[in-house]
Amino acid sequence: MNMAAQQERPSSTSVRPASVVDGVYDNIYEQLMSLTIAPGARIPIDMLARDLNVSQTPVRAALSRLEREGLVNKAHLIGYSAASQLDRKQFDDLYNFRLLIEPEGARLATLNMTPAALSQLEELAVDMANGTTPVDRTSRYSRFARIDAHFHDEIMRIAGNEVMRSTLFNLHVHLHLFRLMYHSRVTEDALHEHENLLAAFRAGDSVAAETAMREHITHSRDRLIPAFE
Ligand SMILES: [Zn+2]
Repeated sequence: MNMAAQQERPSSTSVRPASVVDGVYDNIYEQLMSLTIAPGARIPIDMLARDLNVSQTPVRAALSRLEREGLVNKAHLIGYSAASQLDRKQFDDLYNFRLLIEPEGARLATLNMTPAALSQLEELAVDMANGTTPVDRTSRYSRFARIDAHFHDEIMRIAGNEVMRSTLFNLHVHLHLFRLMYHSRVTEDALHEHENLLAAFRAGDSVAAETAMREHITHSRDRLIPAFE
């Protein structure tokens, strides 16, 4: 599930049916995630509209949504281009911030955990491990990134601090990391780390949850560092 797309979906008063924009959005999103549209590459609206057999209106709407998520940039007179991948400084800043916020979020979530919230997290974890068989490598990682984003956001929701949650959410961490992790093997270890986190939630052990989240984020960072070498 793409949380960002859900929250930023146009209202029902929109002239263009949301489903057309959603379809165009999904298509461009996949092309950006799979690096089919290379980082930094220009994205000509007329060409996209022709390729997707739609008018330019939904393409503009989709690109503007992607701009809010930081996946594309818009420049005066030049138009849209794919965002660059994170550089090492941005990457380090992002992980230092996650390490401040998310272990504390996991601790707070343990204190507020309900059986319903726990079973929803467990379902997400199962989805991540199994789910429908992905058609190819790209959609496998893309799907994983979306569910992982939902899983982490859900923990922050349960934690109950809206400032922490929205600050983290608006960074669209997973979208940017996904483009880095595209060429690496990531999923199996992350699943195991999520399981440690769930075990701490089940036990109601807030210290263990905080530790498990810190370890998960630290390991996630270490798995991605080779992308810069
Ligand atoms: Zn995760």
